[in-house]
Amino acid sequence: MPLWFARGLRRGIVTTRYPARPDGSSASLPTPPAFRLAALTRPVADRLCAACPNGALRRENDVLIFDVGACTACGRCADAAPEAVVPSGQFELASTDRSALIKRIPLAGAGR
Ligand code: SF4
Repeated sequence: MPLWFARGLRRGIVTTRYPARPDGSSASLPTPPAFRLAALTRPVADRLCAACPNGALRRENDVLIFDVGACTACGRCADAAPEAVVPSGQFELASTDRSALIKRIPLAGAGR
C-alpha cells in the first residue's frame, strides 16, 4: 500500500466531491475581478490597466476590455482601485470558445 494512501487514511483526509458537491476550500481561492460599474470611470480604468501585469485589461474609448483568459487573479487591480474592483468569487471559467473569455465592460459616464 503506498505511503501517501496509508497517511491519508490515518488522517481521515479524503478527496472532495467537487463538482458534484461544492468544495468548501473554494471560498479561499483567489478569483478574477468583478467591477463596480458606477465607479468604473476612464481614469479608474486607466489605473487598472496600468496595474495589471498580464495585459488582461485594456481600455478602448469608453469600454474596458477584460481578457479573463489572461487574468491570473493576482489582485493588483483591486489594490489599485478598491472602490471599483472586488474579487468575483468565480473560478469556473473554462470555455471552449476563446472569445467567450473577452468581456467588454462599458465605463461609467460612457455616451454622455
Ligand atoms: S487580477 Fe491581476 S491579472 Fe487579473 S485583471 Fe487584475 S491585475 Fe490583471
